[in-house]
Amino acid sequence: MATVEYGKGLRAEYGMHEIWDKNPLMDYVKKFDVPLSEPEQPYSSVYMDGKLFPYVQDDAAAFHAAVFTPEERGHYDRWLRECEALYDETLSGKLTPRLAELQNISFAKWVESLRLPPRVAEFIRLDLECEVATDWNNLSAVYGIQQEEVFLHGAQQCRHARGGNRTIIDAFIKAIRGPKTLGALVTRIARARKPDGSTRAVVYYKKDGVMRSAEAEKVVVTVPYHLLHSIQMEPSLTDEQWRAVDTLIPGGYAVVHFLLDVAANEKLLVGGKIPFPVLTRGPLGVVYGFLEKPAPGRKEEVFTLLVHGDYSRYYLEPRDAVRGRLLAELDKIWPGLPAFVRATYFYGYHPAAIPGWPVGRSPLDGLHASLRAENVGLYLAGDYLYSSHSDGAVRSGRDAADKVAASLATPR
Ligand SMILES: Cc1cc2nc3c(=O)[nH]c(=O)nc-3n(C[C@H](O)[C@H](O)[C@H](O)COP(=O)(O)OP(=O)(O)OC[C@H]3O[C@@H](n4cnc5c(N)ncnc54)[C@H](O)[C@@H]3O)c2cc1C
Repeated sequence: MATVEYGKGLRAEYGMHEIWDKNPLMDYVKKFDVPLSEPEQPYSSVYMDGKLFPYVQDDAAAFHAAVFTPEERGHYDRWLRECEALYDETLSGKLTPRLAELQNISFAKWVESLRLPPRVAEFIRLDLECEVATDWNNLSAVYGIQQEEVFLHGAQQCRHARGGNRTIIDAFIKAIRGPKTLGALVTRIARARKPDGSTRAVVYYKKDGVMRSAEAEKVVVTVPYHLLHSIQMEPSLTDEQWRAVDTLIPGGYAVVHFLLDVAANEKLLVGGKIPFPVLTRGPLGVVYGFLEKPAPGRKEEVFTLLVHGDYSRYYLEPRDAVRGRLLAELDKIWPGLPAFVRATYFYGYHPAAIPGWPVGRSPLDGLHASLRAENVGLYLAGDYLYSSHSDGAVRSGRDAADKVAASLATPR
């Protein structure tokens, strides 16, 4: 979760954007009294066949009626029912025979097998690829179906923290009782089992240029999956655990903020309504634009892009070139918009923003279960334990806490 301030009350996210209704993070947001925005629908406007289909109708049914022909709508609903049935099957946490088959094909192949009209398939692809941050050919159908959760069984709504999502992290920090060390880089974690079966861990960390250590009976490691390699773990993770980590695929995101003259809104609003976010398949990714109209008197606003998949991998390209490309793409959808851009800011995630599960893998497989087991007093937690988003991070954190508590309560 990351929020940036541009002064004069201009603020935008460059990490997590949406908190969905069923995300267990919501429990803490409520508990800590973090003020939230009004709920938003899960469906977004789409840019398909070179045309913008804005979601400015009163409900999703009216939006779908504007995007699809009645026949296409029937196919979309058929796909939703099929997806709901399979999603429900994943809730057991086990790979049933049907799910095991779907784990071995890509999400794209699964959709192809349903023989949907091309525009329906494209719509599904637009909704999915921004969530998984990779091409739908790259991921297993089971993982893709799990990621459809927000659209299933009546769909969920989402919110964000009014003062920026960073305030949620601040609330967590405040809620931690006892000593806490922030802004430290952990480099080594050594553990040993004692004769009575308990464990001892020493965590070495660098803070303010000094190497220090902290001791504990248990340790929970919550770094992103691709940074596990940067910490020496003695003893190491098991071969099975490393295999589970090393066979994940990277989901790519980059966030771009344009500071935009609010006069541009005349071009952007549709019948006075905000059409954002707009899903595109191309260099722009999700055009988050802005989700609220600027306060009266404001001259600038932050216009956000969530670029995803291969388009986000421009680490070695001059930002000026990327900016030019993005502005040219924006100009295709909203002619003249680049003239209103006053400044551009880039935020990248290298080598991965979120984890993904390729064909042959899913969070339900046995390899992944190994990551949830204790390893000599060490527990792993983070989004990659269950999903690729913050709901998985919270779920895994609770799991680890329960296991630590149960273990510490065991009489020796
Ligand atoms: C651009 C973007 C948009 C997203 N949008 C959404 C969204 O809309 N909804 C949603 O639910 N999820 C979203 N996600 C995913 C969500 O942000 C992550 O799933 C979630 O933050 C994962 O939480 P985590 O605690 O596992 O890891 P992180 O949030 O990555 O936290 C890991 C922490 O470990 C720290 N760290 C790393 N190495 C070390 C070390 N050696 N020593 C000490 N500390 C270390 C890092 O600094 C970081 O603070 C988005 C992600 C990105 C990048």
